[in-house]
Amino acid sequence: MTGSSLIATSAFGSVHGALHSTTFDVAQKLALLLAVVFWLGLAHWVYRDARRRMDDSWLVATATALGAVVPYVGALVYLLFRPPETLEDVRSREIEIRALEEHLHLRAAHCPVCQAEVEADFRVCPICTTQLKQPCARCDAPLERLWQACPYCATPVAATAEPAAEDLDAALTARVVANGSGRAKNGRARSRAG
Ligand SMILES: [Zn+2]
Ligand SMILES: [Zn+2]
Repeated sequence: MTGSSLIATSAFGSVHGALHSTTFDVAQKLALLLAVVFWLGLAHWVYRDARRRMDDSWLVATATALGAVVPYVGALVYLLFRPPETLEDVRSREIEIRALEEHLHLRAAHCPVCQAEVEADFRVCPICTTQLKQPCARCDAPLERLWQACPYCATPVAATAEPAAEDLDAALTARVVANGSGRAKNGRARSRAG
């Protein structure tokens, strides 16, 4: 009677101990598994994040190794020293800057001969002295090559095409008039004197 009860007690105790140790083992293993999964997840995150931010495959490998070899702390260290911008950010910023530069390039006028930047009201290129604009014959405003009339005084540009001939005509006429009046004055002076 006592013997059987002793056996039963010891059996119960061993079963209880086995159960207890199994639960403890399972809990311990589960915790360890979670820790390992979290560690591997962090390492994977470091790898993905490093690939988004680094162009150099050696740097990516180093960061991933840091995240994988040193549990948790490696990922934290990577987080502290990773590049602030992703490669996509850098690329889009470069594209934006290029578009802005092209826009400015289009807006700024350039000399057709030497490509130097020139102001809108320049008449000649200051670098290569190419004539950029013709002055209006009447008001002297700088005219674009394609303009058919001066927008300031409404003089047709065709009239400014041969300004030399007109000037010559005008100069000759002026000289003739001056000579004529001069002769007349001289004549008057002579007649007064005579
Ligand atoms: Zn030029
Ligand atoms: Zn004009």
